[in-house]
Parts: sequence; structure tokens; C-alpha cells
Amino acid sequence: MADEMNIKIKTYTPLWSGGVAKDCDRLHETSIVGSLRFWYEVICRGLGISVCDITSDDNRCMLDAEKYNEGIKKGKTVDDILDEQGICAVCRIFGCGGWKRRFQFRVVNAPLVTFSFVSLNQENKGWLGRIFNGNKAFFGDIGFDLCFYGRDSEFIKSQLLMVFSFIELFGGLGAKMQHGFGQIHLLEPACDERLIMNQMKQLLNKGAALSENSIEHDYSLSNLVTMDCDINKEGLKSFIEKNSSNKEGYIPCVFDLKYEANDKDGKFFGFRRWLKENKDWQESADVSQPKELDLLLGPSSQNVKDDEQRLAGRVFFSMPYKRADGQGYRLRVFAFAPPGLCVKDKHIDVKELADILKDYLEYIFGGNVNIVEKRYGSDLVKKVMGGE
Ligand SMILES: [Zn+2]
Repeated sequence: MADEMNIKIKTYTPLWSGGVAKDCDRLHETSIVGSLRFWYEVICRGLGISVCDITSDDNRCMLDAEKYNEGIKKGKTVDDILDEQGICAVCRIFGCGGWKRRFQFRVVNAPLVTFSFVSLNQENKGWLGRIFNGNKAFFGDIGFDLCFYGRDSEFIKSQLLMVFSFIELFGGLGAKMQHGFGQIHLLEPACDERLIMNQMKQLLNKGAALSENSIEHDYSLSNLVTMDCDINKEGLKSFIEKNSSNKEGYIPCVFDLKYEANDKDGKFFGFRRWLKENKDWQESADVSQPKELDLLLGPSSQNVKDDEQRLAGRVFFSMPYKRADGQGYRLRVFAFAPPGLCVKDKHIDVKELADILKDYLEYIFGGNVNIVEKRYGSDLVKKVMGGE
């Protein structure tokens, strides 16, 4: 019998649909499911669970239907057959060649807004306008109906609920998180940190294959840090003045926070520029020989042609959004420390990266910023492993 789950979220910053840029009028389930898969991979890797690379030809899971049917005839369990064929923990839920996704996913109600990015930088404005201006995104209260069938549906349901809670605490939902989309709050059921830990334990108890490589992957829970900051209006005033989406309560100014811009008082924004000028980080003109800046923030914009490459970084700034108490704005910054990140022969781990991000935020916002929460994925892993 099918088992259902209804989830209701409130968006703090819009959701990008993942559709073709100018033709985005329906919230595509695939972009949401893709995002859930991304975070589930991150969680699995942090726990040391082996995860395939679904985008590669030689390292992705593939179920051999003939062998599967043979196994069933011989009376083997589905789990044993999946084990034999090396189907990873992620593909078991999200599907792979020969194996269907274990749940159906439907977007129930997704209100649209039109928005434009805000930038104090003429160059940013140019390409942002070409790609995004006049685009629609989804903003408001949105419902998702999930339907589970077959064996293990109780486990799969709880695992997906864990992913939604995890996203509220650590990340973002949907496509183009690197543009600041996808900050959400779970209305129903509410976000539950206890459930995250319990479900991580459940996942480990499933006895999935383990791999050391997982932990050291570029996108692993063990190298993730998430910081939530409060910024008062003074700190964001240059953007607020120019923001046509401000009535919605969010400020799409991520590009200036991440790359560079000057406000009219001559003050500059931009993590990339700050690392270059104030911390002496190097970048490379050759995309195939990345230096520390390229590793952390993607290749420099002069060297890349497309939007995806431009934004293939490891640091994510949300759009600042108005706090419920109306007293200012909330900004989330989350980042995955690249395992091989070295600056002047010194390895930069996730804690050092968090300190660098904090320095930057204090540099651009001064006394107007207050970091209210700092979460390390590794602390969560420790708690789960420690059996707390
Ligand atoms: Zn797989």
C-alpha cells in the first residue's frame, strides 16, 4: 500500500525552478528532487558511506535487470541483490539506471514572483541582466506531496524528512543555490534536529558500503560549515536603495557579496576581491591549473564563458532576507572547504575557512553584522558516531 507524506514550506528567498531561464513558470519537481539528492549525497559521504558519481560513465550505479530477476527467482532478498550489484545508498532511494526512484514527488502550490538581481557593479549588472532580468521564481508557501511504495517505505520517508530538516539548518533547496535561492523554513512537519541525528544513525545501521574517499570528497558533510548572521539595515543600505524586489523582503545581491562591487561611498564588497587584495590569495588564468581562489570560488569570470562554470564555487551566500521581527536581515553563508585547499603551503581546513568568512563579513559589514549561529557538519557526524 502506498504511504504518503505532505510537506509544507515557507520560502525566505525564492526557489529557482531549474527550467529554461526565460520560461520558468512551473516549479519542476526534478530540480527539487535533484537538490534533495545532492544533500543526501553530502550526508552519506560525511558518514563515510560510499556514493557513486551519477554524472560519470564509469563510476555510477547501474542495475542489471536480468541478474535482478534471476536473484528474485532464486529467492534472494532485494537488499542482497542490490548489495551484490553494488548499488549505493543514494541510488537505492533516488534511483539509477535500471532502478526506479522509490518515491513520487509532486509540487502542490507554488506562487510566482518576478525578480531582478541587484548589483552596484556595472559589469555584474550586464551579464546578470542578460541571464536573469524579468525572470520568475517561486516564493511563498509551497506544498510537496510525496508518495512511497514498496518495501522500506517507512525508512525512505523518514530519510527524506531528515533531508528537508537538514536543508533548513545547513543549506538551501532547489537549483542555483549559488545565486542565493532556496532558503526555506519547514512549516509542516517542523524542522527537527533530533530526527536528523536519529535518521543518520538509522542510515548507518543499514550497513551500506563504506569508503574513505567519501569523507574527503569536495561536497561532504565533514567539510561543511554553515553560518547564519543578522545584519542591520545600515549594513545593507546601498542594496536596499536599489532593490526593486524589496517589498518581498529579500535582497538578491549575492554577486556583489561574492565577487566585487563598490558602493557610492567608495566602500567595497566582494569575497573574491577581498581574498585577493587583503589576504593575498592567488588565482590562475588557466582553467586547468586552478589556484586557491579558483578552488574555492570557481575560475575567475574573465576565463569562463558559461554561468555554471562561473559559479562552480564552494562558497554560498544566500540573499539577505528580512527577519520576522522586522529588525533587520538574515544572511546565511555556507561553504565546503575543498580538501586540497592550500594557501602559501598551509592547508586551510573547514574551521579556518569559517574564520576567514567571519573576517570577511566583519570587514564588509563592520558592527552591523552579528553571527548568531555557526554549525559544522563534522560536529553532527561526531554526535551521530558518538552515539549521543
Ligand atoms: Zn549510486
